[in-house]
Amino acid sequence: MSRSPSKALLDWYAAHGREMPWRVKGGAHGDPYAVWVSEIMLQQTMVKAVVDYFNRWMKRFPTLESLARADIHDVLLMWQGLGYYTRAKKLHECARVLVNEYGGVFPADRAELLKLPGIGPYTASSICCFAFNQPETVVDGNVIRVLARVHGLTHAVTKEEIYALAQRLTPRKHGADYASAIMDLGATICTPANALCAQCPWRASCVAYREGIVDKIPLIQKPEKKTRRGVVYVIRNGAGAYYIRKRPGKGLLSGLYEFPWIYDGEPPLFSGAPIGQVAHVFTHFRLTLDVVPVQCDAADLGGAFVPPADFKKYPFSTLMKRVMKAIR
Ligand code: SF4
Repeated sequence: MSRSPSKALLDWYAAHGREMPWRVKGGAHGDPYAVWVSEIMLQQTMVKAVVDYFNRWMKRFPTLESLARADIHDVLLMWQGLGYYTRAKKLHECARVLVNEYGGVFPADRAELLKLPGIGPYTASSICCFAFNQPETVVDGNVIRVLARVHGLTHAVTKEEIYALAQRLTPRKHGADYASAIMDLGATICTPANALCAQCPWRASCVAYREGIVDKIPLIQKPEKKTRRGVVYVIRNGAGAYYIRKRPGKGLLSGLYEFPWIYDGEPPLFSGAPIGQVAHVFTHFRLTLDVVPVQCDAADLGGAFVPPADFKKYPFSTLMKRVMKAIR
C-alpha cells in the first residue's frame, strides 16, 4: 500500500527539512516564547534575514519576563532594520500582558491566544502547532503555492479556499512537523520559479505536475503600490553633529528616530539641492525621498543634535539608515 500524502511529506521532512534556531524537528518546541518571537519576526520577513535577529533577540531577551521588564527603547533598538515596527511594540505589550495577567505562561489554546495583543489567527495557529504540537492548519505563502499546484487551481485562489483544502490534509498527529514540512516543501522544492518536482514527495498526486502547468500556478494578482515622494533634511551643525528627532507614538515608523523629512506638498523646512535619493517600500506604498544637506547650528523641529558615533543608541528605520549611507 502506498504511503498517505502526509506520511510521505513527514518522511521527506525528516530527511530534508531545514534546521532553524526556533525549530525542533520531531515534535513541539518546548518554549512557546521562542516560537512566538520567531513567528512575529517572520511576518513580512524572509527566514534568512530573521535568523541573526532571532539569535540576538534571544540573547538580549531570553525569557518572556525579560522582555516584559525591558524598556521599549531597547526593544526597538533590537528590532531596528527588521521593519514593520508595530510588531516589536506589540511583542513588548503582549509580554507585559502575559506576565501580568497570565502568570507568565502562554495559553495552549487558540481562542485564548487570540485575545492577546498582536496575536492574530495565523500566529495563534502557529503557536498552537509549533509550541504545543496541536493539529493546527497554518497557511502562509508557501503553503498557498504548494496546495494550489497540488490541486491544479488555475484561478486566483483565496486564502479561505486554501485553508479549507489545507485543513483536510492536516493530520491529527505530528502537527508541528507537518506544518514545518509543508512550508519547507514550498520554500525549497515547490518554489515560485523552477520548482524541483523530481524531488517532490507529492509529485505522484500533483495535478499541476501531471498537466504541465506548474509555472502557471498560482495566479497572482497584486495591486499596484502607490508611490509617494518627499524630502529628507540632513541637518549638520558646525561640530559635525546631526539633527534627529523621535517620530510620534502612532502611525508610520512610530517611536523610531529620523532625520526630519516631509512629503511633497508639505511646506519645505529648508531650501537646498538634493545630493541623492533614498527609497523604501512600505506595506501600502513606495516612498522616495530626496536627500537635502543643510548646514545649520540651531533647529527647532522637536529633536536634538547627535554626533554620528551615538547613532547606535537610537533605533532608526531602514529608510533612515539608507539616509545615513547616502551622507557618508
Ligand atoms: S510536484 Fe512540483 S508543482 Fe507539484 S507540489 Fe511538488 S514541487 Fe510543487
